[in-house]
Amino acid sequence: DRLTVEIRRGCTRGCRFCQPGMLTRPARDVEPEAVIEAIETGMERTGYSDFSLLSLSCSDYLALPAVGVELRNRLADQNVSLTLPSQRVDRFDSDIAHILGGSRKAGLTFAPEAGSQRLRDIVNKGLTDAELLAGIRTAMTNGYRKVKLYFMVGLPGETDADVLGIAETCRWLQHQCSEIGRLELNLTISNFTPKPHTPFQWHSVSSTEFDRRQQLLRRALRGLRGIKVNFTDLRLSAIEDFIGRGDRRLAPVLEAAWRQGAGLDAWFESVERTYAAWTAAIEAAGLGGRYRALELGAWSAVEAMAADDLEAFCRQPLPWDHIDSGLDKSWLAEDLQRALAATVVPDCSFSGCSSCGVCGPELGHNVVIPPPPIPPQLPQRAPASERICRLRFGFAKTGSLALISHLDTLRLLERALRRSRLPVSFTGGFHPLPRLQLALPLPLGVEGRGEWLDLEFVQHIDPELALERLGAQLPDTFQLLSAQQVPLTGPSLSQELHSARWTMTLAPESGAPIAADRWQAAVATLLAAPELLWHDTDKKGRPRQRDCRPALIALELAAVTTTSAELALQAAIDGAGRSLRPEQLRDWLAERLGQPLVLGQQCRQQLSLSTVLTSQ
Ligand code: SF4
Ligand code: SF4
Repeated sequence: DRLTVEIRRGCTRGCRFCQPGMLTRPARDVEPEAVIEAIETGMERTGYSDFSLLSLSCSDYLALPAVGVELRNRLADQNVSLTLPSQRVDRFDSDIAHILGGSRKAGLTFAPEAGSQRLRDIVNKGLTDAELLAGIRTAMTNGYRKVKLYFMVGLPGETDADVLGIAETCRWLQHQCSEIGRLELNLTISNFTPKPHTPFQWHSVSSTEFDRRQQLLRRALRGLRGIKVNFTDLRLSAIEDFIGRGDRRLAPVLEAAWRQGAGLDAWFESVERTYAAWTAAIEAAGLGGRYRALELGAWSAVEAMAADDLEAFCRQPLPWDHIDSGLDKSWLAEDLQRALAATVVPDCSFSGCSSCGVCGPELGHNVVIPPPPIPPQLPQRAPASERICRLRFGFAKTGSLALISHLDTLRLLERALRRSRLPVSFTGGFHPLPRLQLALPLPLGVEGRGEWLDLEFVQHIDPELALERLGAQLPDTFQLLSAQQVPLTGPSLSQELHSARWTMTLAPESGAPIAADRWQAAVATLLAAPELLWHDTDKKGRPRQRDCRPALIALELAAVTTTSAELALQAAIDGAGRSLRPEQLRDWLAERLGQPLVLGQQCRQQLSLSTVLTSQ
């Protein structure tokens, strides 16, 4: 739901666990003017209210503060907000804090990855405790109180002290920031799984160890307040590790797991189901347990190796060696040695080259654009909120758009309004929204052919012009049928709702068809009923009962075929927007026919308003 523009491709920070950082070298900045132009045009053409600048490490784009301020200045009165993915905390300063958010301030995310300086050096994160604290204090000084932090457990060289260091770091940060305010931390603790084409590709991990370390950390965090923790499921990490460094024997496993329902596993509601699918597929392929010939085991095994032995070990072929990422395998092995010595390699975009093998005529070189001057910040303006003119549109929402929910329909309209550049009036407050009202939400899957919406504007506008400009921005399945001016001070659209006319198809769930006279008799007894009770539950789940008979204005049998009946319903709508629903008619008629019915096509043909009825 937002426009995303890439500002920098590649990252040369050199974190040793990070596959994208290794595979996307060299790092190349996009020209600041090109970024600004892409966002400005993109926002205009899409109508989005949020945009995001994308890069593996946005803060390494040195033009970020200048680009951000320029964009905020240019889009100052358009009620838009900027988000950035996880940022380098050591580069987070007040310039970056200023450009984030806008009319909506999202949370901040940093990734210290490890809980101690020693381990951060092993993984080449190159972040000091002082830098971490300075970044978080800057965030808090700029109004942020909730910060999301990513850590990993199971990193090479990790000891229990490093795991406990995560809890200690959080406690220390909270304490050090206490005079600014209460720092709330949202922690995501994932399990490190080694990736090909990284210096840690020779390392191996164990689910038992992950489990033990997670438990250790859980206990250490238990007494701390203002900290929420989310641990990655061990089973998903086990699968990720198994697949991440697989060889060609993995092919039948992938197919079998997919056939058993695996796929997009982190999104599954049932980890049990996905884990069962993968383990069954792995067992069926005879790959239970560890199947890689090359396993270095725990970090201590690497540390115990003589340098020559380690070199020889790293020279052995790996299943992915034939994929040329541009990195020299010997550089990866050397970097593993540097990790063992906790030696940090500087970021080659800003310091010396460590000769990883990537740069050259084929893949090019790092492109770092020097930071342009930061333009003066213009004050942000709230979107115009005067209420000068109110227009009422009749519309139809049909075809595939019936499958769009009420909230998505509102978003669709908001974007179309932005694209139309009509002078819409916005509500005030923290999260301004266009003054837009739909008469009554349509149930999902139901077409509406006679719906209503009201829009308010900050200046007088010709209804025909508004119809044309907004209509041009809407899909074919959302048709504006009419537009007329209504008094600003008049009742709201929902207060004017009077009744709804529906058509629907009903059919017997199974068994013999129902003859026309039986349908007719069922409709007649329904209309003759003194009361029509409907049992459901209120918002708190308490059972309740309502007599819906007063809402039933008319019910007609429009047509009967050998398989189904088509009915037309006229139902009153009360002041709270309550009316009859087709499924209620289905149940009441099924009761009278003595057999279950299914609801087919349903369409709200017309919503009638009291003013329209009066004027007719
Ligand atoms: S900063 Fe580190 S973790 Fe982030 S993309 Fe770059 S190399 Fe990867
Ligand atoms: S060759 Fe040197 S400058 Fe190029 S990406 Fe590798 S380390 Fe960086």
